[in-house]
Amino acid sequence: MPIVVMKFGGTSVGNANRIRTVADIVKTRIDPKKEASKSGLPVVVVSAVTGMTDLLIKAGQEALKKNLIMDQITDIHLKILEDLNLTEKVIEKDLENLGKHLKKIADKGDLDRQELDELMSFGERMSSKIVAAHLNSVGIDAKAESSYDVGFVTNSNYGEAEILDQTYDNLAHSLKKRKEVVVITGFIAKDLHGKITSLGRGGSDYTAAILGAALNVDEIEIWTDVDGIMTCDPRLVPNAKSIGVISFAEATELAYFGAKVLHPKTILPAMRKRIPVRVLNTHNPTHPGTLIISDEEKIEGIIKAIAFKRNVTLINITSTRMLYTHGFLSKVFEVFDRYKVSVDLVATSEVTVSITPNTAHHIAEIKKDLSRVAHVDVEEGRAMISVVGKGLQDTPGISSRIYKALGNAHVNVEVISQSYGINQSVIVDGKDLERGVKAIHAEFFE
Ligand code: ADP
Ligand code: ASP
Ligand code: MG
Repeated sequence: MPIVVMKFGGTSVGNANRIRTVADIVKTRIDPKKEASKSGLPVVVVSAVTGMTDLLIKAGQEALKKNLIMDQITDIHLKILEDLNLTEKVIEKDLENLGKHLKKIADKGDLDRQELDELMSFGERMSSKIVAAHLNSVGIDAKAESSYDVGFVTNSNYGEAEILDQTYDNLAHSLKKRKEVVVITGFIAKDLHGKITSLGRGGSDYTAAILGAALNVDEIEIWTDVDGIMTCDPRLVPNAKSIGVISFAEATELAYFGAKVLHPKTILPAMRKRIPVRVLNTHNPTHPGTLIISDEEKIEGIIKAIAFKRNVTLINITSTRMLYTHGFLSKVFEVFDRYKVSVDLVATSEVTVSITPNTAHHIAEIKKDLSRVAHVDVEEGRAMISVVGKGLQDTPGISSRIYKALGNAHVNVEVISQSYGINQSVIVDGKDLERGVKAIHAEFFE
């Protein structure tokens, strides 16, 4: 039986019944023959209970207004424990510490990025303990561990911390001889000063991938609430279909350009070690889901999926001086670099550069700085639609199909971007997003 890391997302641990299903699934990954040595035991990563990270952030904001509210957070967890016939003791200490942390925020009247990471960490710290307690109660030897206690170390870029290289050796060392199923907190870690950090929203997928690479497992399983990676977000396109096999490159592109099903950083650790990643559905465990692999030769299909981003800001930088000058683009990117803002899309003509930053932060400062070298026009309320697939590189006629579908749906394309790659992105007015996505989906998949 293959050795796996299994990550269960928020909805997969969202209530008692879901957690029972998690236990059933974990059981299927324990090889009875390997029980004696236990070396083949799966490692489990969990997210916070669904919606919990948002609730914790809200509690922090309330604490800033001197309102110490954690009833909903407490009730959700206690209800799950009660339904699973587990005692409140499992998370008693965490609830107490959460209360203290909120009080500290209220007293200080300030919530910095590190304190926010610490606040959010309570979600995963509690869910991991509940899942481990339930596994034990159904006869699976299990232990909850905080990721930082098994070796996850990051830099101090709170809110979006980056894993330090020593993490891989730390994990291999601490988990190699595991004697039970270890249930590890996704999303969080600690920096070298011992302060709690987070890997960015949705970061539990990344935790699982790092563990998979460190332990050199046979497969990394991402258990979520849909049948794998689909041709589009089924919340927007109910006709979306599950994709059987996709390449690491295509999956990364989809994740980066908005498909929330995977955190964009998930793929890299897996790809380096060529460990397959499988995206599976906790609510439909027998469905084969999506297999993500490096061997592109084995993958069929021209266009794999459509991703999208809402609330995109488009910055158009126009300079007649750009004509025949060198160094203009480097001046433009210097400004983005100054504010540590990365960009999603760039398109240039002779006099205009169009850029979409991947965050709404620092736009005013960026506009001001760019205005020193060019005319700058900022357009809010745009949306980005990205069509992803290897076929974009080598199949004629794909682009014309995309634009014909958009044209027939009366969607005006404002900016187009495609490098020699596997992704073609367009910027449209936000109100046209749904119509545009559905039109392209119908053209390629229906
Ligand atoms: P989890 O809590 O398990 O990490 P997420 O909510 O982060 O789950 O990700 C799963 C969700 O991603 C799905 O419910 C779906 O709405 C959304 N999603 C967006 N794009 C895609 C896609 N291409 N394929 C599948 N799901 C997608
Ligand atoms: N709980 C975190 C979040 O909501 C991490 C995750 O779910 O992967 O962003
Ligand atoms: Mg997620």
